[in-house]
Amino acid sequence: MLLLGKVTTLSEFGEAEAVFVQNGRIADLGSREELGARYPGAPRYTFEAITPGLHEAHAHPQLWGQQLESLDLQGLTEPEAVAQKVAERARQLPPGRWIRGAGYLFRAYPTRRLLDEAAPHHPVYLQSRDLHSAWVNSLALSLAGIGAETPDPPGGALLRDEHGAPTGYLLENAQALVGRLLPAPGKAELKRGLEDLARRGYTAVHHMGWCRFELALALADELPVRLWWALDRDQWLEAPAGWHGDRLEFAAVKFFADGALGSRTAWMLEPYPDGSTGMMLEAPEQIEQEGRRVLEAGLGLTVHAIGTRAVREVLEVFHRLKPWARRPFRMEHVQHVRDAELPRFTGLPLALSLQPMHLLDDAELVRRHQPGREAEAFRLRDLWNTGLPVAFGSDAPVMPPIFELNLRAATQHPLNPRQNLSPQQVLWAHTRGAALAAGWLEHGHIRPGAPADLTLWEGGRPIGRVFAGRLEVG
Ligand SMILES: [Zn+2]
Repeated sequence: MLLLGKVTTLSEFGEAEAVFVQNGRIADLGSREELGARYPGAPRYTFEAITPGLHEAHAHPQLWGQQLESLDLQGLTEPEAVAQKVAERARQLPPGRWIRGAGYLFRAYPTRRLLDEAAPHHPVYLQSRDLHSAWVNSLALSLAGIGAETPDPPGGALLRDEHGAPTGYLLENAQALVGRLLPAPGKAELKRGLEDLARRGYTAVHHMGWCRFELALALADELPVRLWWALDRDQWLEAPAGWHGDRLEFAAVKFFADGALGSRTAWMLEPYPDGSTGMMLEAPEQIEQEGRRVLEAGLGLTVHAIGTRAVREVLEVFHRLKPWARRPFRMEHVQHVRDAELPRFTGLPLALSLQPMHLLDDAELVRRHQPGREAEAFRLRDLWNTGLPVAFGSDAPVMPPIFELNLRAATQHPLNPRQNLSPQQVLWAHTRGAALAAGWLEHGHIRPGAPADLTLWEGGRPIGRVFAGRLEVG
């Protein structure tokens, strides 16, 4: 097929006007006239713009698929407003059924009282927008057998009242005490999440944990995107290291150095206004030791690091592990970085996986939690200037996987215009940069011989794609 439009190749071919696709590969590139004359019988399709296929470089597609079906609490900042939504849902569901939801962002941790009033006969489990804390009701606590005598799990905390009784707010790993009771999402949710991404013009997704690899394997032949898979740390030893099909690669293991800013669990060098400095989740020594085994198994190592302390520690771990790296390390989020750490990024085989769109909601959060240190947050241009590959994603379900949100946040930085990137850089980070971060050197650009994974645009928005040689529009 012959695709006509403004073609941005992101390769040595620069711009073109036409792409000829054959057998799932880019077969030829050039001007309208040239290709029109060369392939007179080929079916022709015209679009405003044609780019390499978009990658979503950090997502939890199964949770996204699940979220498409659960209570959407995005944008809610008052516990009362959330409780109202819960009460509405409770009226529709038979007693005893779980009510789940996610997306709220509160200033203070609420207690179970509001949820008990809203849904006395339904267990309720709601997660904050960053998924690093959860709000539950009394029924959920009692089903989980949680009481005053329940100890905090490692890497987590149950908030308690003055008598030591749990208030119904759970931080980090304590969420699992209740979360494990919920019906587990399965293959259907994973598929739904990936199909939604495909409809938004993505051709590749970097899966960042919280889903069992077997589910992806079971879908391997019918995956609607190419899937780069990072496994959770507790699963990697049982999984087939380096498993690689046409649309699925088990490529890396994901570690967590810290939590997130909104839940005040991002691990900081400078304290939050309340004097706390966040949480270390997996100790740097632990990441180094086990990370070395991961690298020796031929896998990649990807580490979640949001706070300044976490970023610093993980950079040093990467420097120590450098001799074992066979593919680029990845740092996920890299949200708060001090000047002192910037030079430590260079000289590493490392890709930076960022989600500028979080700025759209988090600018206010940064001002509140790190007053006076806004310049250290979301340093898009400074990180770009390290010369390392930069890859963009949404962290769906934390934010919806919408390309335009990253475009807006990165070109109109809400905290610091000095950190703005250009639209072309944003496109690169969603295509070629992400492909480099995945270690998929053939992907993310348009050149003869490359797989024909393309995103098609009208009015500045993705409206379709070519995936594995097939045209899908609308
Ligand atoms: Zn994530």
